[in-house]
Amino acid sequence: MISFTYLEPKSVDEALDLLARYGDEAKLIAGGTGLVNLMKQRLVHPMYVIGLRRISGLCAVQDDGALRIGALCTHHDMETLTLVREQVPILTETFQQVASIRIRSVATVGGAVAHADPNQDPLPTLLALDARVRLRSQREDREVAIGDFFTGYYETVIEPDELLTSVIIPPQPGGCGTAFLKFLPQTHDDYATVAVAARVTVDGGRITDARVALGAVAPTPIRATAVENALRGQMPIAPIVRDAAALVADAVDPTADFRGSAAYKRDMAVVFVQRAVAQAVSRARWGA
Ligand SMILES: Cc1cc2nc3c(=O)[nH]c(=O)nc-3n(C[C@H](O)[C@H](O)[C@H](O)COP(=O)(O)OP(=O)(O)OC[C@H]3O[C@@H](n4cnc5c(N)ncnc54)[C@H](O)[C@@H]3O)c2cc1C
Repeated sequence: MISFTYLEPKSVDEALDLLARYGDEAKLIAGGTGLVNLMKQRLVHPMYVIGLRRISGLCAVQDDGALRIGALCTHHDMETLTLVREQVPILTETFQQVASIRIRSVATVGGAVAHADPNQDPLPTLLALDARVRLRSQREDREVAIGDFFTGYYETVIEPDELLTSVIIPPQPGGCGTAFLKFLPQTHDDYATVAVAARVTVDGGRITDARVALGAVAPTPIRATAVENALRGQMPIAPIVRDAAALVADAVDPTADFRGSAAYKRDMAVVFVQRAVAQAVSRARWGA
């Protein structure tokens, strides 16, 4: 039996005060769907668990040009909020594919990002959208680009005294098309075998910008920059997309598990990048 002291701050300031005092020996808990598993497996054994659920003001989505998603918004909020669906439809498309409604009702956006499990669905989408993460402590208030946030398997740049307060989605390029595909050969509520998020902008008959990111194929979620570079400036036609997608095979480093061998996941990464980019192209509003 693991014993710990449970603390329940009612404001961000109170949480930051607790983190300043106990950060090294404490773990934050939001939805608990990730942390409780880690504690049960004795991979983490905090002396203090700091519950975030009673903090108000971290569970709203605000739109001031950028979309500011409070850390305590649940996955279910993200799949159901009209503002999110209208502004950044790939977020709705992604979060509605996470696990089951029981998990989506409690798991939070902040928890998903801080957990940094590379098999999670929202992470490649946040990479494709060029998201930023706001981290607060008593020392500073900083924003980190999501591309600089993940440092290893379940590891991030978050310091022990920092609280992730929001995830920020910058304004997206006008007319861009997006797609999130989750390859799930087994059950509908499993983690992905391969997940791909793509954002493509087409103008003047050419791809002017492409962002492609993958989950479940490396120790962190990754961008497929070779694919992006091969697409940029090209016509959005099937042979170009197919040849560009093939380049992802060298970018992934999948682990064999019950979802498939490493070779199978590498092959599926190519297939699903091709499909996701093609779908994003079909959803883009093409400039003249
Ligand atoms: C059976 C099951 C199936 C799942 N399937 C999927 C799936 O298919 N796809 C998918 O994407 N996800 C899936 N998940 C959910 C995912 O794995 C994570 O558990 C979830 O996203 C974590 O969110 P949480 O709010 O529950 O975080 P918690 O468990 O509360 O916390 C996770 C970690 O983040 C830290 N943390 C939490 N909030 C903050 C904060 N605001 N600031 C700083 N650190 C913080 C905690 O200290 C902890 O280290 C599944 C979970 C379960 C249990």
